[in-house]
Amino acid sequence: MKKNKPEKKQTHLRWRRTKIIATVGPASDDEKAIKELIRLGVNVFSLNMSHGDHAGHQRVFKRIRRCARQMDKHIAILMDLCGPKIRVGSFEQDSIQLTRNATVVISCTAGTGSDGLIISQYKQLYKDVKAGDRILLDDGNLECRVQKVEGKQVVCKVIYGGELKNNKGMNLPDSKVSASSFTARDKRDVALAMELEADFVALSFVRTAKDINSLKNYMRRTQKEIPIVAKIEKPEAVANIDEIIASAYGIMIARGDLGIELLPEQVPLIQKDIINKARFHHRPVIVATQMLESMIENARPTRAEVGDVANAALSGTDAVMLSAETAAGKYPLKAVRMMDRVLREIENAQWLKGSFGDDLTQASESISSRKAIASAASSLAQDLQLQGIFVPTRSGHTAAVISAKRPLSPLLGVSEDMATCCRLALHWGVIPFFIGEDKAHDWKLLSQYICDQCKLAKTGNRVLLVSGFNDDEVLNEPVLKIIKVKR
Ligand code: PGA
Ligand code: MN
Repeated sequence: MKKNKPEKKQTHLRWRRTKIIATVGPASDDEKAIKELIRLGVNVFSLNMSHGDHAGHQRVFKRIRRCARQMDKHIAILMDLCGPKIRVGSFEQDSIQLTRNATVVISCTAGTGSDGLIISQYKQLYKDVKAGDRILLDDGNLECRVQKVEGKQVVCKVIYGGELKNNKGMNLPDSKVSASSFTARDKRDVALAMELEADFVALSFVRTAKDINSLKNYMRRTQKEIPIVAKIEKPEAVANIDEIIASAYGIMIARGDLGIELLPEQVPLIQKDIINKARFHHRPVIVATQMLESMIENARPTRAEVGDVANAALSGTDAVMLSAETAAGKYPLKAVRMMDRVLREIENAQWLKGSFGDDLTQASESISSRKAIASAASSLAQDLQLQGIFVPTRSGHTAAVISAKRPLSPLLGVSEDMATCCRLALHWGVIPFFIGEDKAHDWKLLSQYICDQCKLAKTGNRVLLVSGFNDDEVLNEPVLKIIKVKR
């Protein structure tokens, strides 16, 4: 079917559709930097709980909320739990040298490492590995192979040597790690996330839906649940992706660890596949790690990195994420500006072609009324050249379902709930719009008000209002209403 191309390019491309997540850290956690990052277009901030202490995280969290409020922006905060990241302990001299073919002992006892001796922070290591398994160190830069396990000592041969510093990560791609994905430390960190009312928590090294559910149950027992983003960074998670997508709120393709646990060449197709699956189930999906890695040191990215950001957007991701680039790099602002420019370039071209992505609905699928209406709303807005799709939404669910259709018209997720507005900041193309209760019940007035605030339409233009959904089947009477605006 041929689709009309809406003519109002300038207005409609004012909003970038693919969202940007920036990790805050020492390079970016003061008020000036946070405000500048927001101004440059960061939609979500991530706090990495692997570093720093609670007092520090609390300060930065409150600072971000304050800056967002002052700038009148809806910004989400994601707290990234470290999960069972397995690490080496510290060394007497802060590092040791591993030499090819030498023997090194990884010990699960207490103590400090020295030449030929690594202390594992993970004390069950000796139970999980067997002779022949690989143990990768420092993001896979060093490699050992297990020769034998003697009591709590794992005796290894060095395959690829180099310097190993204190507290570097360990990956066990050949072993089944028995540690739970939701650790005692994570419990303390989640308690902080709940106290601060974070918008999302990310769970690292998820393997099955059970991992998500144990975190959910933990939150349910205490206070209000925070939506969970499942970090896909283990082969088991890739194998169980369907059940994980079903139980998590969102998905992060954590390519750093994923590319160590699997072969790096497997990651690109897995990335594409997971993006499609997540979007099909209208779950927001994030592509993370090394996107503009060289900008940690340099003011310009490599061409390959620019290609990576572009490719993630073309594949239909909801969001792209910066990690050390913004947390600890020399050019956090430049990295965000670069990402914004690449994404806009791609979206501009998609716009001119008249599509932000293929419709993923399968012919055989029996679809929910929300999905059917989302599809209808998206084509209606396109066919009639409507200026926007306005979705009053309490939980954000309807806006998320329409977002997954990747409509061409700007999509406004309109809510009386500030938390919903923040959460929608992660979803592709959704422009969160907060309204006071007084305006919530007159749709005509509401549409007029939004058009004025967003400078979205001129007199005589039309917008599409999508409303009337209810989880209670008896009350579920969705309405598509075309509203003419005055300005
Ligand atoms: P991390 O996760 O930065 O918390 O390790 C991201 C990744 O592994 O890609
Ligand atoms: Mn990781």
